[in-house]
Amino acid sequence: MNNKDVQNWIASKKNSPTGTSGRKDLLNDHSSDLRPREKCGIFAVYNYPNPEKTAVITYLGLLALQHRGQESAGIAFNGAAGLQCYKGMGLVDNVFSRSVLDSIRASTILGHIRYSTTGSSEAVNAQPLLARSFDKKGIALAHNGNLTNTRRLHNEQMQEGQIFHTTSDTEILLSYLFRFRREGLVRAVEKAIGIVRGAYAAVAIDEEQVVAFRDPGGYRPLVIGRLGEAYIFASETAALDTVGASFLREVEPGEIVSVGPGGFKSYRTSQQGSKPSLCIFEYVYFARPDSVIDGQSVHMVRKAVGSLLAGRIPVLPDMVIPSPDSGVSAAMGLAEALNLPLEWAVHRNPYLGRTFIAPTQDERELAVRLKFNPITGLIAGKKIAIVDDSLVRGTTARILTSLLRKSGAAEVHLCIASPPYTNPCYYGIDIPVAEELAALDSGFDRLAETIGASSLTFSAPEDLYSALGKDQSRYCTACFSGDY
Ligand code: SF4
Repeated sequence: MNNKDVQNWIASKKNSPTGTSGRKDLLNDHSSDLRPREKCGIFAVYNYPNPEKTAVITYLGLLALQHRGQESAGIAFNGAAGLQCYKGMGLVDNVFSRSVLDSIRASTILGHIRYSTTGSSEAVNAQPLLARSFDKKGIALAHNGNLTNTRRLHNEQMQEGQIFHTTSDTEILLSYLFRFRREGLVRAVEKAIGIVRGAYAAVAIDEEQVVAFRDPGGYRPLVIGRLGEAYIFASETAALDTVGASFLREVEPGEIVSVGPGGFKSYRTSQQGSKPSLCIFEYVYFARPDSVIDGQSVHMVRKAVGSLLAGRIPVLPDMVIPSPDSGVSAAMGLAEALNLPLEWAVHRNPYLGRTFIAPTQDERELAVRLKFNPITGLIAGKKIAIVDDSLVRGTTARILTSLLRKSGAAEVHLCIASPPYTNPCYYGIDIPVAEELAALDSGFDRLAETIGASSLTFSAPEDLYSALGKDQSRYCTACFSGDY
C-alpha cells in the first residue's frame, strides 16, 4: 500500500457518523489541544504490609501514569471513618502533599488520575467516586474508559428516583454496584457489567476487598502485579516497574478478579471471550514506551512501525529526527532501517505547564519557541525526515515544520507512524470529532502543502498489524478503519 493507496483506503472506509461538513481550518489553529488524549489511569494496592507507606506507593504509581490524565487525581482508602476519598484538580504532585500522604494509614488504597471525555473537568467528577450508606459501608470506584449507553441508563435511573452528584459516566456504573452491594461486591460487578455497555477497565474497593474488571473487548489495559505480599493493579506495567512490583498477569477482557480475605479469585463472566477489542492506539501513542501490553513492548512495536516507513518515504533524507517526544521510538526504527543518523534536532522544554500567553500572533510565536527550539547547526541545508506517532489536527506538525524551515532545512519530509485518523473515538479517547480531523478529505499532497512539508507519509494499517505480529481482529481500529 503506497500513499495513494492509503488515501483511497481512507475514502473507502470513511463512514464517519458525523460527516465532514463545516470543518474548521484547524491547520491554522494554535489551540493547546494538540494531541489525542487518554481518559484515565488507575493504580490500586491491596494489603500492603506497611500501612503508613501505602499512600506513598500509590502516589508513585499515579505519577508513573500521569501521561494518561492530567486534570485531577485522587485516592480512596479505608480510614477511621470508613471508606473516604482525598482528591483534587491538577497533577498528582499538585494534589498530594507529603503531609497528606504521611497522614494516611491504610493497607489498601485505590488511586486514579483523570482526563475527562464524558463529564466536565471539575472537582466533583474527580475519581475515585465513593458511595456510602448509613451504616458507613461504602464502595469506591475508579474507571478508565467510556460507557456508551449512559444516556438511556441515566434516564431510567432518574425516573426511578436516583440522584446523581456528578456528570461522569462512572457514577452510573457506581450506582449499579451500590444497588447490588448486598449480594457482595463481585456479584454486584457481575450484575452491573451486564447492564452497562462500552469500554471500561475499572477497579472497585469496599472495606474488605479489591475487585478489578475489564469490558469483554478489553479496550483499555489493566494489569496485576505483586509487591511482596501485596497485590497491585495498574493501567500499565510501567507503573508496576516504578514501585518495584513484578508483573503477574493482565486482567483478561471480560474477567472479574478479586483479592480479599478469601485470597485471589478470578471469575469468568458470560461476556468473556466475545470479540477482543484492545485499543490499537495504546501502542501508537497512549501508553508509555516502557510498558508492555498484551505481551508486547510498546517501544518495540513503535520502532517496528517506524522501520516500515522506510519503504514508503519518497526520498532518502540526510537525517531522521523525532517529533519530541512522541515520535522517538518510530524515528529510531526509521533511522535504523535507512541507516541514517538519528538526531535530537528539536529540543522540547519539558517544564511547561499551561501557558498564560495571550492569543496574539507575536505571543504565539514566542510560546512555540518556548516549547520547541531547533538546533540550527544540525538542520541547515539538510533534507530532514521528521517522525511523529500520529497526525490529528496537524497543529504540532505545522509548528515543527515551520521551525525546521526557518532553521534552514532544505526539505522537510513528515512521516507519521500510524494510519490517518478518520473517525472519532467513542471508547474513552478524546480525538477531535470528524469535522476537525486533519487527514480527512484533503488529499495528502494538499495536506503536506498546508502543513508546509515537502512530503507527507503515513503508515498503512498493515504496518501496524505486521509490527504487532498478531491477528488484526483482536484490536479496535475504529478511528482509522471506521469499523466500530
Ligand atoms: S476508536 Fe481508536 S482510539 Fe478509540 S478505542 Fe478504538 S482504536 Fe482506540
